[in-house]
Amino acid sequence: MRYESTRGGLTNISSAEAIKMGIAPDGGLFVPDKKVSIDLSFIEGLVKDTYQQRAQKILSLFLTDFDKVELHDCINKAYCSQFSAKEIAPLKQLHDKLHIMELWHGPTCAFKDMALQILPHFMVKAIEKTGEKAEIVILVATSGDTGKAALEGFADVDGTKIIVFYPNGGVSEIQKLQMVTQSGNNVSTIAVNGNFDDTQTGVKEIFTDNALSNAMREKGLAFSSANSINWGRLVPQIVYYFSAYADLLKDNTINLGDKINFVVPTGNFGNILAAWYAMDMGLPVNRLICASNENNVLTDFIINGVYDRRRQFFKTLSPSMDILISSNLERLLYELSGRNSNFVRTWMNDLSEKGEYSVDEATKELIQQVFWGGYSNDEETITCIQSIYDDCGYVMDTHTAVAMDVYDKYVIYTGDLTPTVIVSTASPFKFNNSVSKALLGDKTEGLNEFELLNMLSEKTGWDIPKGLKDLDKKQILHRTVCEKNEMSKTMRKMLNLND
Ligand SMILES: *Cc1c(COP(=O)(O)O)cnc(C)c1O
Repeated sequence: MRYESTRGGLTNISSAEAIKMGIAPDGGLFVPDKKVSIDLSFIEGLVKDTYQQRAQKILSLFLTDFDKVELHDCINKAYCSQFSAKEIAPLKQLHDKLHIMELWHGPTCAFKDMALQILPHFMVKAIEKTGEKAEIVILVATSGDTGKAALEGFADVDGTKIIVFYPNGGVSEIQKLQMVTQSGNNVSTIAVNGNFDDTQTGVKEIFTDNALSNAMREKGLAFSSANSINWGRLVPQIVYYFSAYADLLKDNTINLGDKINFVVPTGNFGNILAAWYAMDMGLPVNRLICASNENNVLTDFIINGVYDRRRQFFKTLSPSMDILISSNLERLLYELSGRNSNFVRTWMNDLSEKGEYSVDEATKELIQQVFWGGYSNDEETITCIQSIYDDCGYVMDTHTAVAMDVYDKYVIYTGDLTPTVIVSTASPFKFNNSVSKALLGDKTEGLNEFELLNMLSEKTGWDIPKGLKDLDKKQILHRTVCEKNEMSKTMRKMLNLND
């Protein structure tokens, strides 16, 4: 299996190269150069496996230049005791046809750990395998969850440095504290005075600045990305869609070959794209339901084939989905347009120059055959957290609640009663501000996030996750702040690079 860029500038790249580079030098994203297909007996074979064994089987289909032992080593370092659930991605049943897949049992309490616990191990192997001599500088733009998960994954990993940019004031107090208290001799954070899209755009500019990468090379440094544009982030996410299906088979909830729906709370389109790759490989999927908050650019796109980012940006209660430019959509467009890099280049140019693009009819129809898009506002999100708690005793974070609420709309709209898995992307404690207000109302007035953690734990009987306890007592280690047009300058200073 080789990899190529969605913009046509690069082909025949090994997975190790693709992971090491992160983004292609032509600005495109790496995708597998052919379709991977599995049959139902492959899926049946997963039923008795552990999560780690399922990961081994699936990853080996994509990372063909990693041998068995290398993959085994990466998987066992990633999915072990730092996860608080031995199933790694456990399924919880809400009722007959509705399950929740909890992806937040990793060290930072959000689903980013599913990929970012393993990416650093892929990266170390990729550096070895490609004979890279430079030290790899991982740059991350985060809307909150990726940053901490990447810091946690890369801290003290040999041969790497990591710098995380986050929108100043655009992440929750807990998310910020998780990042600025991160220890490790190779980690830094920079708060940017701007929103997430400014931050992501700034990082993309740094990546595509040729003069800068030459200066880096001279100093023995090279950039890579831990954002979901890196194939090494995407591929581990394919595993849990198979794992959920295998678990449903195991429980006799479905029979082999039955189709199921997934509902995915979506921002950068990484998580739901992994579901699409699983389906493309042969996982029986009926619909992928793309759930957005009020930043509903994807809802509109799925309905009318026009991606228009020229709209108001809302700060919502589900901040990890406050995104207007969903980078990973580029991969889907490439795949569904018949791997047409000319189309993709034109659309992406239109997006950056005009702020919008329209896909052709054929691509639009293919998207609509699989995806259904919907969105929920903050009020609906909070009401959903309350009603699911009252009806089922289950506590959801705000992102998961967006998915649940959009699913309700989907069922009303379509009448489809196919067995469905809601993808839960964060622990309710991680967004406890909103969750405790939803469940406790006025009693939360004037309390800080840490007092709220305790109240929420008392109310629900759920334990506060280890990674969130006592965060307020940890020492702050990172304080750098910069303007949005000074990201490159601030970073160069950190790396001791001259102008
Ligand atoms: C990152 C994130 C999302 C969005 O996932 P994408 O892969 O960017 O679509 C949703 N929920 C939470 C809690 C997240 O951290």
